Amino acid sequence: MTDRIRLEQMNFYGYHGALPEENRLGQRFTADVTLAVDLYQASVTDSLGQTINYAAVYKMVREIIEGPPCALIETVAGRIADRILSAFARVSSCRVRITKPDPPIPGSTGQVSVEVERQRVIAYLGLGSNIEDRKSYLNRALGMLDALRLTRVVRCSSIYETAPVGPVRQSDFLNMVVGIETVLPAEVLLEELQNIEKTLKRKREIHWGPRTIDLDLLVYGNRQLNTERLSLPHPEISRRAFVLVPFMEIAPHLVIPGIGRSVLELRQMLNEKEGVSVWKKNNGEGKYGLFGS
Ligand code: ATP
Ligand code: CA
Ligand code: CA
Repeated sequence: MTDRIRLEQMNFYGYHGALPEENRLGQRFTADVTLAVDLYQASVTDSLGQTINYAAVYKMVREIIEGPPCALIETVAGRIADRILSAFARVSSCRVRITKPDPPIPGSTGQVSVEVERQRVIAYLGLGSNIEDRKSYLNRALGMLDALRLTRVVRCSSIYETAPVGPVRQSDFLNMVVGIETVLPAEVLLEELQNIEKTLKRKREIHWGPRTIDLDLLVYGNRQLNTERLSLPHPEISRRAFVLVPFMEIAPHLVIPGIGRSVLELRQMLNEKEGVSVWKKNNGEGKYGLFGS
């Protein structure tokens, strides 16, 4: 059972719309916002600090609807949801409905609305590098991940050194696994990971060949997916010690969606036990516990 807070029938006047007259004359807009929030603590402590300040939510909605015009109410709704999720860590998901009570549809007396839903998701990423300076590539990739909009790094494994697997002869890798919290949809997150790889001069010359940085999306919430661009969970997780060993350090009991076994169980089932050793222990120092000294 999820607790919810609803702010309904908030009325504003704004200038959004794809038609020039909508931008010129403006029209009425109504917003309905539903927040999924754990309200148990609030309900037992009777303390405002344990819930969401409705007035602050209202102010955000008003600023966006009365602010610079967008062509689409889809955009307006998405911006409101992103803003609320960024501002309130307690909100785990946010649904926003924007209505035009008097839409410019010739002959119509009905209303039009769009509803978007955005969720905060925990995802796990595998990082790898085998071109010097390997540690610096990992560090820079982590900084760029943490700086991604609507995303922050919440857990980091130690750094492991691993012998390369596969047909290509190449240098040893440094590998790690990190947990992030994000509001970005999986497909958008993958694009952002690929942008970071590009910025860090990742080249795709040989398949499975040497790389400055490789960022694999291992797990994205409970999502299961198999398209040409994106497979979730990452199909190789259960075969790779260089993923499972660091993964086990930060999420041993996480059950991998679709496989139905925990990271720990998968690690125990894997025959290959060698070739992965701690290179730098996460000691809790500095932002990620790894690059303090
Ligand atoms: P592997 O995926 O076996 O670890 P790789 O990391 O060397 O191999 P890349 O060249 O980095 O492979 O990626 C190839 C393609 O894999 C990417 O273009 C991407 O679209 C696709 N892909 C599918 N699922 C995922 C995922 N979960 N994470 C990252 N990339 C994925
Ligand atoms: Ca990979
Ligand atoms: Ca990859």
